[in-house]
Amino acid sequence: MPQHDTLFIGGEWIAPSSNRTITVVSASTEEIIGSVPEAQEADVDAAVASARAAFEDPNGWSSWEPANRAAAMERFANGLDNRSGEIARLVSAQNGMPIAISTAFEGAFPSILLRYYAGVLKEAVFEETRPGMLGGQTVVRRGPIGVVGAIVPWNFPQSLSAFKYAPALAAGCTLVIKPSPETVLDSVLIAEAAAEAGIPGGVINFVPGGREIGAYLVAHPGVDKISFTGSTAAGRSIAETCGRLLRPVTLELGGKSAAIVLDDADLDLATVGEKLFAATLLNNGQTCFLGTRVLAPRSRYAEVVDTFAALASSLKVGDALDATTQIGPMASDRQRDRVEGYIAKGKAEGARVVVGGGRPSGQDKGWFVEPTIFADVDNNHTIAQEEIFGPVLSLIPYSDLDDAVRIANDSDFGLGGSVWTRDEERGLGVARRVQTGTIGVNTYAPDPTAPFGGVKASGLGRELGPEAIGHYQQVQSIYT
Ligand code: NAD
Repeated sequence: MPQHDTLFIGGEWIAPSSNRTITVVSASTEEIIGSVPEAQEADVDAAVASARAAFEDPNGWSSWEPANRAAAMERFANGLDNRSGEIARLVSAQNGMPIAISTAFEGAFPSILLRYYAGVLKEAVFEETRPGMLGGQTVVRRGPIGVVGAIVPWNFPQSLSAFKYAPALAAGCTLVIKPSPETVLDSVLIAEAAAEAGIPGGVINFVPGGREIGAYLVAHPGVDKISFTGSTAAGRSIAETCGRLLRPVTLELGGKSAAIVLDDADLDLATVGEKLFAATLLNNGQTCFLGTRVLAPRSRYAEVVDTFAALASSLKVGDALDATTQIGPMASDRQRDRVEGYIAKGKAEGARVVVGGGRPSGQDKGWFVEPTIFADVDNNHTIAQEEIFGPVLSLIPYSDLDDAVRIANDSDFGLGGSVWTRDEERGLGVARRVQTGTIGVNTYAPDPTAPFGGVKASGLGRELGPEAIGHYQQVQSIYT
């Protein structure tokens, strides 16, 4: 059982300022699986001071030749790869992510991102000289923005941390990362890999803690930029602080995306089942971009209901560490309460439960909820408007394409989505009309090379793609 009594600050494992700890419990067995020290304000002060000193060191990380920074990032990636099995197991034990999914994502994606940004870094232009229109010329510099406060949620703790540290490191920034209390154990492995790779002390620091310590980091005078992934409610509060401080902020928030089934869609689960699952139910529904509102043409509504009912009933629910599990437990009892509250609300507002709606039999431990399909959902129902963050889908009928697009856009959110059709051109045409940061046609799979993020209440700014480096840079024009 991983029991840690030190914090990774300034490149060293140091004693915390208090003896308070965060104890982590398995989502599948409810047993205690480890603990880390809980960072206090004094620890955040020390972490920010270390990050600041590392950033301002004239021979430090931000002054390194890009090729040397890229090489260190590649060594960091190797260190994560060497730990990928342990990372996947720890993530699954903590948050209930089926091990097959955490192996494919949490164990693999961070090193892919580090190598991708190392490659972008090798090609990046940090300084260019532009001829002026009025005579003279301008040197345009893209320097690192400084010390980054990175706050991550529990649902994909490794990947979502890497969404931040990989481009930030490429830009030459230093970071203080605050993992979520539900998933602090795996963050220790990131620190180990960074240290082993020779990333200089102070460039990456970890402060495990809850929302108070997160809020303290956001407002800290030594921080230059905040990058946050989490709920819309927390994002609003963070944005208020950053607005007051005029502190740049990137926000990746919640979603309630639409999976739009067109009238010519292939509904054979043998061919599309896996992709439909990934786009609507991945990670027990605890994924921000999922198409949890399935929009179906009235002409094929019964068929779509049958398809999703068959998909949900076929899923194997079980312990997250079992390789055959497709749906694991919710990450916490609080999260299960929330999901069950929405299921009750769906029933009370008149939607019809086709499959699920309760707790699976045979699981007396763990925070399990049955995969649940609601039919006859109106887009105004609470379960169609609010993010549930569990394995619960709302099937909403539409009359024609304009109606489908109207319903898709009738949401406070705009993060993901998908269109299902045998005609890809037609699918692209519909995708262009949906107000969302990302969308797929017959698939949904974020790619490192393409910007990812949301519109409306789903966030501000983008992660991934070469564009993300720009969020960790400050542009300076020098006229000559
Ligand atoms: P949360 O907002 O409660 O917590 C996220 C993180 O922020 C945690 O580390 C938490 O300790 C911290 N935090 C909470 N309030 C804070 C505050 N006021 N100031 C500073 N830090 C604060 O969210 P959660 O329940 O952990 O995660 C689930 C949410 O994350 C969902 O709403 C989901 O949609 C969203 N999410 C979004 C994306 C995306 O890319 N858009 C990706 C994954 C998850």
